[in-house]
Amino acid sequence: MRLCRIVVLMAAVSLAACTTANRPAPLTVTYIANTGFLIECADRKILIDALFGGFAEDWCFVPSDSVVELMTAAKPPFDHIDLIAVTHAHTDHFNPRLVIDHLMHNRRGIVVCPAQTVRKMEIDPRYADLKGRIHIMPMPTDSISELTIAGIGVKAFRTPHLHAADAHRDIEHLEYLFNVGGRMIFHTGDSGLNDVRRYEGYGFGKKPIDLAFVSW
Ligand SMILES: [Zn+2]
Repeated sequence: MRLCRIVVLMAAVSLAACTTANRPAPLTVTYIANTGFLIECADRKILIDALFGGFAEDWCFVPSDSVVELMTAAKPPFDHIDLIAVTHAHTDHFNPRLVIDHLMHNRRGIVVCPAQTVRKMEIDPRYADLKGRIHIMPMPTDSISELTIAGIGVKAFRTPHLHAADAHRDIEHLEYLFNVGGRMIFHTGDSGLNDVRRYEGYGFGKKPIDLAFVSW
């Protein structure tokens, strides 16, 4: 098992102006595989695009079997996860069985995800007992939905998957902006990053983002 743990240091200039009382909380990021990360801040834990695996491919990094085992059993560092976010239903971001396995061992975790991912979870007989903890985010194109889960602000942007004009036209895809412990954390999933006008429309560039996970 190899987990890469990063304590993210923020710009000293902006922090210097903050008092201790309003200084954002320390942020710890653990890389899982592909676009999967564990984010820890202010006693909150977010797992995004991390619950997948069980296959071996050379086109993406996949969590090792031992990491999958820890995640599904909700064992440290994957214990007490507050929020499980899924950007889309591709197998290198999401495995319905692994999400449900994790929820069975983590009674506090809430999932936010596109409807397409829910349709894959619904066929598991355990889904009925868990559906109250699974939030389907609205899917109109270019929509932005907001909710708060365990004190974590969640904004979901309904955006196209990379190469949406052809192969991935039918994929329901979300980007997320989390507000936790005074930190703004952005995750693009598999979105293309060339639509500057769209990001300007979201207000990006006016407010600082502390940390962005971007597809490249
Ligand atoms: Zn994808």
